[in-house]
Amino acid sequence: MALWITDECINCDVCEPECPNQAISMGPEIYRIDPDRCTECVGHFDQPQCVQLCPVDCIPVHPQHVEGREQLWERYLRLQREAQDKPRADEAKGEAQVDAGPDVTAEPKAAAA
Ligand code: SF4
Ligand code: SF4
Repeated sequence: MALWITDECINCDVCEPECPNQAISMGPEIYRIDPDRCTECVGHFDQPQCVQLCPVDCIPVHPQHVEGREQLWERYLRLQREAQDKPRADEAKGEAQVDAGPDVTAEPKAAAA
């Protein structure tokens, strides 16, 4: 785990779509980073995109999990291989259309006098 999101996260939703590795997801309360997918953006960008974008600066490097560029590069290559082997189904998923259901607003006929 190279980077992590602290509890200062305000759930602004900015970082998640910008992660090139889909490493960021919503946790029980705040966003979190999957250490198995985060490369610190190595292979994609010069700087970690989430860190660049976070408005409250709550994505530090974890001091106990510092990883070298070579290790991050190997992770990047693994993720690329996985992406080729099993393309993500996100783009293929269709939008489920839900019918509103039958109109049940039948009005009672007025009784003739
Ligand atoms: S550093 Fe890059 S790869 Fe890691 S979580 Fe942030 S945007 Fe994703
Ligand atoms: S950009 Fe920062 S504050 Fe916004 S969701 Fe991501 S970690 Fe949280």
